[in-house]
Amino acid sequence: MPRPYVLLSAAVSLDGHLDDAGPQRLLLSGPADFDRVDAVRASADAILVGAGTIRADNPRLLVASPARRDARISAGRPEHPLKVTVSSSGELDPRARFWHTGGEKVVYTTDEGAGRLRRAGVPAEVVSLGAEVDWHRLLEHLHDVRGVGRLMVEGGGKVHTQLLRQQLADELQLVLAPLLVGDPQAPRLFGPGGYQGGRLRLVEVRAVEDVVLARYEPTAPGAGDAAVPADRHWLRIACDLAAQCPPSSTAFSVGAVVVAADGTELARGHSREGGDSVVHAEEAALAKITPDEPRLAGATVYSSLEPCARRSSRPMPCARLILDAGVRRVVTAWREPDTFVEAADGNGLLTGSGARVVVLPELADRAKEPNHHLGV
Ligand SMILES: [Zn+2]
Repeated sequence: MPRPYVLLSAAVSLDGHLDDAGPQRLLLSGPADFDRVDAVRASADAILVGAGTIRADNPRLLVASPARRDARISAGRPEHPLKVTVSSSGELDPRARFWHTGGEKVVYTTDEGAGRLRRAGVPAEVVSLGAEVDWHRLLEHLHDVRGVGRLMVEGGGKVHTQLLRQQLADELQLVLAPLLVGDPQAPRLFGPGGYQGGRLRLVEVRAVEDVVLARYEPTAPGAGDAAVPADRHWLRIACDLAAQCPPSSTAFSVGAVVVAADGTELARGHSREGGDSVVHAEEAALAKITPDEPRLAGATVYSSLEPCARRSSRPMPCARLILDAGVRRVVTAWREPDTFVEAADGNGLLTGSGARVVVLPELADRAKEPNHHLGV
């Protein structure tokens, strides 16, 4: 399902708090970082905050810079991003600044909350997601109905927690401010719960006056048939590995990465690597992992091309090697054409043996690129 790119944006104190417990909002950043946030806002199609943030902070959520607003208008976009909020109960004050500044607003809620919001006369489009708030449906609606390609989420902690735990965030932009709050009642960025087990990927780190901006990406593969942002990241790496293959006129160039459920990379490989003129990418990657590796059972194999079902060079096709390794989830970009093997159906072999196969056709061109000389 297509959905927006979801960017979580937050600032915390050195002891991990979003705010202190006092009535005034604690300012964690300085002018330079507020200007950076303004630029991120200007890049977004929509800005989302939870209802708790509207109640606690009463924010306007506007693009402050006239130059950035002009640039948006010149590009044919609205002057301000769409403002989005989420409230199960629908208990929101219709006088809040959120509703009365900037451009269009939409509030996602439940059937019960929708009645309350309409009775209160909230000046926004009210969209019910049913009996409860479902983030998947919310993001699909934003994408399909509102045309949102890039969503900036500015909190609060409850919203950030839900999006990260449900593997719906593409990126976390975290600012660390040189302050200590020291109050156990003060709100934290992330609440307790089940997150990915392994390390997130650090994409960028930058000092902005006295705060530090760190950008992270989740790394844990999805668990089911739906792709999560980390799945696309790992498959892009597999496609880029394909470009490293020594050229061949008798075999495809393919890249593969094996990733544990917690987001830890176990191995990677590409076709014909290390002077082996017939080795396949998935075979090369799996050969680097000891067969008794317990994380293989929960791992995902990313392969730029559908794993092979038959091959002449070696007795074991890659689909069989993957199954024998205990892996039960494969993500691939491109189905094998009939160039070398008629009606190869590695995906069918995998799914017929109980593995999940997720195909991401949006990366097919990237997977094919090192194979153009083969007429694909
Ligand atoms: Zn193969």
